[in-house]
Amino acid sequence: MFAGSSRLVLGAARRARSSSILFQNKRAASSSSATDTLPTLDSDEHVMLRSTVKRFVEEEINPNMDSWEAAGIFPAHEVFKKAANLGILGLNKPEEYGGSGLDFTYNLVAAEEMGGSHGGSVPMAMGVQTDMATPALARFGSQEVKENFLAPSIAGDFVACLGVSEVGAGSDVANIKTTARKDGDDYIIDGGKMWTTNGTQADWMCLLANTSDGGGNPYKNKSLICVPMDADGVEIARQIDKMGMRASDTAQVFLDGVRVPQKYIIGKEGDGFKYQMLQFQEERLYCAAVSLKSLELCIEKTAEYCASRNVFGKPVLDNQVVQYRLAELQTEVEALRAMTYRACLLHVQGKEDVTLLASMCKLKVGRLSRELTDACLQYWGGMGFTNEVIISRIHRDLRLNSIGGGADEVMLSVISRMLGFASK
Ligand SMILES: Cc1cc2nc3c(=O)[nH]c(=O)nc-3n(C[C@H](O)[C@H](O)[C@H](O)COP(=O)(O)OP(=O)(O)OC[C@H]3O[C@@H](n4cnc5c(N)ncnc54)[C@H](O)[C@@H]3O)c2cc1C
Repeated sequence: MFAGSSRLVLGAARRARSSSILFQNKRAASSSSATDTLPTLDSDEHVMLRSTVKRFVEEEINPNMDSWEAAGIFPAHEVFKKAANLGILGLNKPEEYGGSGLDFTYNLVAAEEMGGSHGGSVPMAMGVQTDMATPALARFGSQEVKENFLAPSIAGDFVACLGVSEVGAGSDVANIKTTARKDGDDYIIDGGKMWTTNGTQADWMCLLANTSDGGGNPYKNKSLICVPMDADGVEIARQIDKMGMRASDTAQVFLDGVRVPQKYIIGKEGDGFKYQMLQFQEERLYCAAVSLKSLELCIEKTAEYCASRNVFGKPVLDNQVVQYRLAELQTEVEALRAMTYRACLLHVQGKEDVTLLASMCKLKVGRLSRELTDACLQYWGGMGFTNEVIISRIHRDLRLNSIGGGADEVMLSVISRMLGFASK
């Protein structure tokens, strides 16, 4: 009943959105103000989507988080199918492949609500499916690859993973060594991928590989290719044992003479680096949005704990220094939220390259995750150092924000270049 009614809600949202766009266009025609055409993040249909995702988190994720953390994995196919039944795996994907045909603002509010999960693993894994492994496929893929890989991913029948990072190339994406050489109508892929989220459960990988030498230009010799994970030569070398995101499986994957049809390429051969950089914009915005509620959960739980814990004859929260610190951190979260919303709205408008702002959001969420979770954990005393309370899990999980999807220093180098402080 919940799933069916929520599906209807999204259908209604789509129809309502069409009419609101018509309305906006009419207003734009009668007004010279550019702001009239601005998309929004708080329409009625955004609000409905928020409550659908919030309920999904409360009913399907949070009751299971402890056992998934203990198991070191969550059942991605089962959880993604439930998410797909609510229509939340294809919000901004084309309707002809089962998506809702909405814009990225819907992905952003869904990400924000996913952040209410009691741990970062499932939101991260779902983000890989919706905003990291599939944006380029939806935008540049042929009808055939979209039918074979996008449609089942939106339907929750396939789990997707993203194969960019390698043992020797994480920050320096241009330096990847995996190759895909032509053989008849196929590519033969050799190499390996590292840190592959969803890797042990995925049905297909959005793989970045070198398809030529590009005349020595590492930005023009790469392609994105859809690789079925059950193809001969794909081997899950190991599941990596991590300090955080423990309910998410992260794999090292070997690719040894893997044969895939050349028609499984996404878009044009040689444009893979460019597509991946575009794909990174939405990944960075996702990372910022999905962390907002986790950061707030940290503050909320810390305030609750500090109110209940008496030290020197009074609750820890009665110390003004604690109140001010939490107040300041909540202010920082609001600043991050405002910045993330602004970047998202500009991205959806398509008027501006949001690389600079998206990189700033990613940097800010990395920095704030470290500062905020550390400051909060401190007020829990010894309890904060145990695995019995949520604060330590959030601290461990959000530590990834400064590393995954581009380390803080990589964001700083992009920002420095774009601001003209460093040479291109
Ligand atoms: C849990 C997890 C999940 C992940 N999921 C995926 C996934 O699904 N798919 C995928 O492709 N990748 C994934 N990654 C990989 C992630 O994107 C990389 O770890 C990240 O890009 C950093 O690369 P690296 O680990 O190789 O670090 P390195 O590139 O070795 O960098 C190490 C450190 O060097 C510093 N550094 C780097 N560049 C500079 C610079 N220019 N100036 C100064 N200092 C610098 C930074 O502090 C950086 O942390 C995941 C990683 C983790 C941990």
